[in-house]
Amino acid sequence: THALELRNLKKSFGSVEIIRGVNLDLRQGERHALIGPNGAGKSTLFHLISGRIAPTSGEILFQSQNIAGKPPAEIVRAGLSRSFQITNIFPQMSVLDNLRCAVLWKLGHRYSIFRQTPTLPDVAIECERLLDQLGLTRRAHDTADSLTYPEQRALELGLAVASGANTLLLDEPMAGMNHSETEAALQLIMKVTEGKTLLMVEHDMGVIFEMADRISVLVYGQIIATGTPQEIRANRAVQEAYLGTSEEDAA
Ligand code: ADP
Ligand code: MG
Ligand code: MG
Repeated sequence: THALELRNLKKSFGSVEIIRGVNLDLRQGERHALIGPNGAGKSTLFHLISGRIAPTSGEILFQSQNIAGKPPAEIVRAGLSRSFQITNIFPQMSVLDNLRCAVLWKLGHRYSIFRQTPTLPDVAIECERLLDQLGLTRRAHDTADSLTYPEQRALELGLAVASGANTLLLDEPMAGMNHSETEAALQLIMKVTEGKTLLMVEHDMGVIFEMADRISVLVYGQIIATGTPQEIRANRAVQEAYLGTSEEDAA
């Protein structure tokens, strides 16, 4: 069974169809890159999957349940999370308190089933584990707005993971980073998403070849190819539609 299945998904804004019948399967535990030219509809697809907007038609099956049009919080509770979906970074709060909010949100739900309240040690242990994993232990008591840009992106990733999701959507998580920051962020993403299913919008073919099990190519609202990085690079239609002018970048 697949982690996530998109079935003939469509979205129009007014009379303009932006997502034009997308079919996509994410295997359990795979790292899947979504690529495509600017304006192809990648972020819109993420808005649809995460429940920010409702599709015009089609199905979004998450662990075999149709989540199309469901509220974002319900989708996160089902186990599918996108960075910035539930908990935005609160800039004036400490790194630790930011994580506490996300952890309390998760535990609050879990404990409400058993009519208990989360205990402080549970929350503290989980926050400590997250800080360590994110490399932010040293920064725990600093305000979030004092973090460097890569540290802020790490916190953002932590907030998505803190929700307890087993499937994560990351939209250009390395945007605006230099080469060494990108490499560090990639290693962090690989570590934090270990064993989880990942769908990530990314442009850097070097990054994609390092992280992705498979790639899907979105062009003008349709998936024109899905395959391993090697298959996608060798695909003539993809080269013409997207990679054609960037063979040097891809090398
Ligand atoms: P990508 O992330 O692949 O660069 P987007 O999903 O951001 O592309 O945008 C795809 C297209 O949808 C763009 O032409 C954009 O202008 C259009 N679009 C996105 N959101 C809206 C909206 N709310 N209303 C109208 N058009 C939109
Ligand atoms: Mg764009
Ligand atoms: Mg985008």
